[in-house]
Amino acid sequence: MINTVNLTIPKKKTIALIAHDNKKEAMLEWVRVNRDRLAAHTLCGTGTTARLIAEQTSLPVLAYNSGPLGGDQQIGARIAEGKVDFVIFFWDPLTAQPHDPDVKALLRIALVYDIPIANNPATADFMIRSPLMEEPYTRPVQNFAASTQERARAFSAAADGDKQ
Ligand code: PGA
Repeated sequence: MINTVNLTIPKKKTIALIAHDNKKEAMLEWVRVNRDRLAAHTLCGTGTTARLIAEQTSLPVLAYNSGPLGGDQQIGARIAEGKVDFVIFFWDPLTAQPHDPDVKALLRIALVYDIPIANNPATADFMIRSPLMEEPYTRPVQNFAASTQERARAFSAAADGDKQ
């Protein structure tokens, strides 16, 4: 049985905004339309996307590195730390990306932590208008602290067995 822990996405969410180059215009348009909704939350994003949004909408957006220079990995790390809890990531399905492994890693870690993640404007529209945007949301996530302890104990026991 999987040991889980309940983690809460607060009412005021930390939202990461990421758009590949061919999707930046769509992201800007989406942010313009949803400016007032987004203003109630804390925003961050990969370098170029964050800068564009901040410049063109005057919303404050914390900029991590540009995606190909580690920005996707930084946002993935914040998800693992519980510091990013909602992602709008318009990735380009028609263009090969040099940082494809990082993109995949970010999509994966969002699933591991059961973070809402929109990959296209339609999903983002449904998500941003959800009544759950106005309240905290608690979901069970695998208790990695407990499973790490159990795994370390199992490895130690196996090592002790080898010695005998
Ligand atoms: P950028 O990165 O916002 O710096 O362009 C996005 C990405 O390619 O992941």
